[in-house]
Amino acid sequence: MRILIGSFSHESNTFNPERTKLEDFDAAYGQDMEVLMTQGGRSALNGIAGVLQKHGVEFVFSAAARATPGGPVARAAYDSIKNRILEAASGPLDGICLHLHGSMTVEDLDDAEGDLLAALHAAAGPNVPIVCSLDMHAMVSAAMLRSAQAFVGYRTAPHIDAYETGRRAADLLLRSLQESFSLTTAAVALPLLVSGEQSETSKAPMKQLIPLLIQTDRQPSILASSYFMGFPWADVSISAASALVVTRDDRDLAERTAQGLAHVFWQHLEQFQFTTAAYPFPEALRQAQAVGSGPVCIADCGDNPGAGGSQNTVAPLEHLLAEGTTDVLFGAIADPQALAVCEQAGRGSDIQVELGRTSIAENSPGLKASGRVTHLGELGRTRAAVLRVQGVDIVISQRRTMMLDPQDLVQLGLDPASYRILVLKSGYLDPKYEAIAAAGMLALTPGYTNQRFSELHYERILRPMYPLDQDFVYRPSDYLIR
Ligand SMILES: [Zn+2]
Repeated sequence: MRILIGSFSHESNTFNPERTKLEDFDAAYGQDMEVLMTQGGRSALNGIAGVLQKHGVEFVFSAAARATPGGPVARAAYDSIKNRILEAASGPLDGICLHLHGSMTVEDLDDAEGDLLAALHAAAGPNVPIVCSLDMHAMVSAAMLRSAQAFVGYRTAPHIDAYETGRRAADLLLRSLQESFSLTTAAVALPLLVSGEQSETSKAPMKQLIPLLIQTDRQPSILASSYFMGFPWADVSISAASALVVTRDDRDLAERTAQGLAHVFWQHLEQFQFTTAAYPFPEALRQAQAVGSGPVCIADCGDNPGAGGSQNTVAPLEHLLAEGTTDVLFGAIADPQALAVCEQAGRGSDIQVELGRTSIAENSPGLKASGRVTHLGELGRTRAAVLRVQGVDIVISQRRTMMLDPQDLVQLGLDPASYRILVLKSGYLDPKYEAIAAAGMLALTPGYTNQRFSELHYERILRPMYPLDQDFVYRPSDYLIR
């Protein structure tokens, strides 16, 4: 049996005007995917490969490409990776199993996954089933449903079940091939904007909703059910959460069950609140200072690179400096020019530098700061420096990088646990930060990942859309995606 495998993953924030380019992707093609996969740990693609390998399937390698969330993917980058996947589909295949994010937008294309799957379906032919694992923050489109047979979504946020989800996708494809049945999928849109910080799966209401999926999957003829949360910082026509059900060739059952799941989800609507205490930045700082021990982690979540923020807004830093706060780490600010100034001056030098930008308005100036370069080195996989300004250690990085692991700060020579307050360019805290934090909170800051959706200028999403619109009646039967 020959099955094409691959992954193409990007969460695209359409408010961020910076394009995600080909060099921003960690990508490998064909046989070279194997090297990338050995470093991939418990990725969805490794989950897919693990199941297929065990069943003696012959792999047709296509592409494995992922980039840090950011602005929409540049057309040339998208076409380049897409074409590599299509080339791999030109020979005889029994099936296709991919991991996709589900919220990728290309600069001139709202529904990248729909476009990719339609092209792949056309290239491979109508008898080659396609099954995909998707991130929980996927937007499911009609084009995706027309082109692929089945989708399986993560059930944890923060996402710790990527590997298992990949396994479930591969299992589904294999079973349908071995037992010769068709996979039939239906999905119902849920017109709401909800952020990951309002829908962590260890907290209500997701904590109640996820077990419902597990229960649903126990019903005869139902193979997989998922809730997808959509992606609120994609101002595109297909923006929505959804309930999706895969059955053993039973369209009516798939549609009915998806509508039932959508109905229950909508009943929990008002429970989608921040799952961590959330305040405007000045109040978050006051709250953090009131905590007796440290470090208190404040997520600067309006500028979260993990959801496509530019990671260079400095409004909270201005506030910290104006207040004369000490014993604080702030960062990382992705600013290659400021980093170059630090590197040229060298460790121990006193410098003046312009940092990041004070707002997301076009041509917004940076923050002028004077301080001492105390550390130079690496932060995860990017070069970085620490600039001490008054009592604030500012981490400056060359590239955008998610603040997921305090070990990255250790690598730079810092001791994250020794600060009273860590202000991190992050959304909900990664479990690794949670492990060292005396307390955690969200600061509702400005930026491309602003959590106060009413402050963003949406133009393309369909209306009504909760919570921008509140007075409307939701009927799942009106929202079947097809
Ligand atoms: Zn996600």
